[in-house]
Amino acid sequence: MVNVDNYRRIKDELGDRITLVAVSKTKPVADIKALYDLGQRDFGENYVQELVEKQPQLPADIRWHYIGHLQSNKVKYIAPFVHLIHGADSLKLLKEINKQAEKNNRIIDCLLQVHIAEEDTKHGSRDLEEFTGLNDAALDQIRVLGLMGMATFTEDMNKVRQEFHHLKTLFDQNRNLIPNKPFSVLSMGMSSDYKIAVEEGSTMVRIGSLLFGER
Ligand SMILES: *Cc1c(COP(=O)(O)O)cnc(C)c1O
Repeated sequence: MVNVDNYRRIKDELGDRITLVAVSKTKPVADIKALYDLGQRDFGENYVQELVEKQPQLPADIRWHYIGHLQSNKVKYIAPFVHLIHGADSLKLLKEINKQAEKNNRIIDCLLQVHIAEEDTKHGSRDLEEFTGLNDAALDQIRVLGLMGMATFTEDMNKVRQEFHHLKTLFDQNRNLIPNKPFSVLSMGMSSDYKIAVEEGSTMVRIGSLLFGER
């Protein structure tokens, strides 16, 4: 069930500057359609198979964000339609995205995932060093728009804030990593911490349970 009140309140809080990605993983297409009918167009999914099953059942103008961990051998399934891949965590994966984008005759937008949390279970590069070869790799079919990160799962909101602050610092410091294409997207913040993320400079939040209920 979609929580319409939360949706309206969050849209209001975010205004026009911050993009809301509604995270619909494990939720039925009827729930996605309900939010779509309220005007929502950006939706996020974590699992390739689930996304590939849902996409054809829903309106074609939905912008699908892939926010999960992406394996190189699965890129081909989402390459024809994905709007933004948030979790690019290696140069190898970016090369595969570039290859599949070329096959589909399109440009695919990506965010580099940064590991800001203390848990090892989370993915991403700690310091972006992984991506130093990016410019020489001549990946013409992808556009790197910015960074994405997830804070530690904790009640300690000071820690969460510090981690988001660190990510914003990396975002600012590496803004010109790609010559002539300054970073414009900083994807950080989920249901439990999006307000802090916004205070720390997020431009895109990924919210699931507040909109669709607990999973
Ligand atoms: C599930 C998920 C979210 C949304 O989490 P909620 O706590 O339900 O808002 C955001 N980002 C990523 C990467 C996720 O996997």
